[in-house]
Amino acid sequence: MPPSPTLESRIRGGLYGVAVGDALGATLEFETAESIRARWGELREIVGGGWLDLPPGAWTDDTEMTLALAEGILDDPADPLPHVGRRFLAWMESGPPDIGNTVRAVLRLMAQGEFSPREWHRAAKRVHRELHGMSAGNGALMRTLPVGLAYRDPEEVMAKAELLARMTHWDPRAAHSCMLASLVAFAMAWRDAPPGEALAWAADVLSSRVGEVAVEELAGLALRRSWGELTPSGFTVESLECALWGLLEAPDFEEAVVRVANLGGDADTIAAITGGLAGVRWGFEAIPKRWVHALSPGQRGRLDRVAEGLLRLVG
Ligand SMILES: [Mg+2]
Repeated sequence: MPPSPTLESRIRGGLYGVAVGDALGATLEFETAESIRARWGELREIVGGGWLDLPPGAWTDDTEMTLALAEGILDDPADPLPHVGRRFLAWMESGPPDIGNTVRAVLRLMAQGEFSPREWHRAAKRVHRELHGMSAGNGALMRTLPVGLAYRDPEEVMAKAELLARMTHWDPRAAHSCMLASLVAFAMAWRDAPPGEALAWAADVLSSRVGEVAVEELAGLALRRSWGELTPSGFTVESLECALWGLLEAPDFEEAVVRVANLGGDADTIAAITGGLAGVRWGFEAIPKRWVHALSPGQRGRLDRVAEGLLRLVG
């Protein structure tokens, strides 16, 4: 058995994992597994393109929102909401190529100034109603990883994961999936738990807060390791299942991210979620160097700064 990664390596690995998963998966977003096989065989290289026609190494909203969330936590770990919110709005104003529908609707409401900078939950609730209760997309899950790395107490991990998920996604399943994923990252980073144990522990802790039924609906198949047919959709429960499959079943970081990305569908987001968890599991050194170097020095600098900030916060 190789020695387990250091905390620094897990934190850096988690952030880089989100970024390279996003950059690899962006090429395959909205494709089917069959169309990917026909065109690529299996895509293992960061080549850009995709429906957004991205340059190689470019990341998308998944990484941007993860970094905004981490930076907002670093601004004030005890009260991150207004800081995360300010950073989300600054990102939208920079004119990114792609923003998810639920996130866009809430950010627009907040940018219009109808709600105060603390009233994200009111805006999210209104968008939830306008979408007829359809706010269980994976747009909160894709950014939640830093919560599991920034706080040292599982109760606080759950509280902050829920607080920050509900800024945009009011459906409880969005918050619950964020709480579970953040607890899995927490257990791997702080308790050195292998992913199967981390998931079982996280499910137990989450059950005590939201009930066993909710956790069974969220991750029953993953807990039983009976995967059935994976659906790489933007529904937070299905995205989480795909990511847990990659984390639990793959032999290493590269395989986890490649297998999940090549399912297609919401490939960039699901590969980002998988890459984040897999990076915490296997550490930064396990991420293929060719993927790390597909990111520009500017991108790597930002990831390193955030990783160092998180390490200073908790180390
Ligand atoms: Mg994306």
